[in-house]
Amino acid sequence: MHGQMMHRPLSIIEVLRFASEIHRTAEIVSVRTEGDVHRYTYTDAFARVGQLGHALKALGISQGDRVATLAWNGYRHFELYYAISGIGGVCHTINPRLSVEQLTYITHHAEDRVLFLDTTFVPLINAVKDKLPSDMIYVVMTDAAHMPDGSDGMLCYEDLIDQHDTIYPWPELPEETAASLCYTSGTTGNPKGAIYSHRSTVLHAYTIAISLGSSLTEGARVLPVVPLFHVNAWGLPYTAPLTGASLIFPGPALDGKSLFDLMDREKVTSAWGVPTVWQGLQGEINARGTNPQGFSSVVIGGSAAPRVMIETFERAGVSVCHAWGMTEMSPVGTQGIMPKSYRDTKSDQELLDLQSLQGRRVFGVELKIVDEAGHCLPHDGEAAGELFVRGNTVISGYFNNQAATDAALDAEGWFGTGDVASITPDGFLIIQDRAKDLIKSGGEWISSIDLENVVIAHPDVASCAVIAIAHPKWDERPLLVVVPKGDARVSKAEVDEMLLKHVAKWQLPDAIEFVDELPLTATGKVSKLTLRQRFADYKLPDM
Ligand code: AMP
Repeated sequence: MHGQMMHRPLSIIEVLRFASEIHRTAEIVSVRTEGDVHRYTYTDAFARVGQLGHALKALGISQGDRVATLAWNGYRHFELYYAISGIGGVCHTINPRLSVEQLTYITHHAEDRVLFLDTTFVPLINAVKDKLPSDMIYVVMTDAAHMPDGSDGMLCYEDLIDQHDTIYPWPELPEETAASLCYTSGTTGNPKGAIYSHRSTVLHAYTIAISLGSSLTEGARVLPVVPLFHVNAWGLPYTAPLTGASLIFPGPALDGKSLFDLMDREKVTSAWGVPTVWQGLQGEINARGTNPQGFSSVVIGGSAAPRVMIETFERAGVSVCHAWGMTEMSPVGTQGIMPKSYRDTKSDQELLDLQSLQGRRVFGVELKIVDEAGHCLPHDGEAAGELFVRGNTVISGYFNNQAATDAALDAEGWFGTGDVASITPDGFLIIQDRAKDLIKSGGEWISSIDLENVVIAHPDVASCAVIAIAHPKWDERPLLVVVPKGDARVSKAEVDEMLLKHVAKWQLPDAIEFVDELPLTATGKVSKLTLRQRFADYKLPDM
């Protein structure tokens, strides 16, 4: 027997239509590449998105066509999100930090028809244009007065939308229709595309609104430092309009000082991004001895949030949510807001211990950990195995890539994350490492994340990473790579003393190397792959 309820397709454009009608005073504030600050409401945005819908149609974009963006966080990028998906196209956000080979590969693989780019990326595109699809149309996201040198033959965004009507007859699309496309940064092999649907995107927006609702309320002012070019900025461009939160887009400058000034001026209540970004902000908060006005919550994800970072924020009155997810999951899988019952009953240290874990699953995402034979392991906080996930916001395959799809899914259709994890009885996820970053020593595992988390708390350490070095006897042994904070060099004895409070003696790193900076991936995470390559011939003291 079926229920007798209407079935309305979940639709991305309806999110913005809703915000334009109901959250009429919420703002979108953008630091522009033109050098100034732009502000308008969701109502204004919806009207311009209508104009852009007409403009895309006039460019010949039809349902299913891929339209690429190469842009920072700003209102025009936001408009593209809605207009492209709204007319039935697929918004392909490109990470500007990809290599030329990767950029070339994904624009061809996606068969992008149009590329919208910020003024800052005109030189980059001119340098690679002859490798990109030959019939690509380029649109620079600015007005006629700011078209940069080198943009001959490219169209101008404001001219393109200017003459069009603000009302667009948005089609009613089946909810499974593809809406956006994001390639994983792919540290090895070619990038793989996750292609999200209207349904998965709207369900993800609901999920975030429920699970992280305390920082996403009507009147909240949310700063996505996480880029619009990386997994749809963790869904914020959809969840903020849904909940009535304002969006503050930072543009290209993401250093501590720029972020602090913007957050202070715009009274940002909640900021979202990867740990590397918060290091800069915490340095600035430390130097000024005060928080940006109104700053009360931070969401940290993308890589493990160090305990000392969580503690520093919490001490400063900023509540931390440590979340985990991945491109293939839209991306949020778990969130670490401490439940009230924990805040009431646990000590600060116990709370910090829990916040350093990767949080608990959000509704709609199921987790399982399995051993090498594929058998499920208990959620006892001890057993560690590969983490698999399932849910409406998880990919069912990679875009036009059967081999990668087959490799990622198990026989029951669960998606293998490539992370090695444990799960506690009350549901906290403990990410031990990426499977390929774990250090295998004498048949046992050493978690690089565990070691880094401790060492980063040393006052002379600015950042650090632990990598495996091949070893004739033990298979692999850990090497600690440190970026010093000042002139002092932390000693091996000091590091060992700190670490021995948390790990066994055989897990201590065999040596320390000092570097000026750590290599980062296109999404701002430490690139362990590059580090391993750099230290490929490294000789540990006992070798
Ligand atoms: P991406 O698809 O580029 O966002 O990368 C996803 C991967 O980042 C995950 O599979 C994890 O290995 C890692 N990751 C994301 N969030 C966390 C976290 N909170 N702690 C540890 N690793 C994380």
